[in-house]
Amino acid sequence: MDNMKNSKNDESEEKIETCYFCLQKFDMNKSKLGYYHYGKFPVCDYCSEFYGFYNKEGKI
Ligand SMILES: [Zn+2]
Repeated sequence: MDNMKNSKNDESEEKIETCYFCLQKFDMNKSKLGYYHYGKFPVCDYCSEFYGFYNKEGKI
């Protein structure tokens, strides 16, 4: 059910993404809260927390 999140096995590699909400660049692999909204839109730590309700549902 959490297969859209970044894998914890990939922490050695950088994966720079631009946050879909705030347009800031961040490293998805170093991000603890970052995830892919709808499975394709990158969301940074800050926005993930701010819009945390999306993530809790896990399927929006
Ligand atoms: Zn953001």
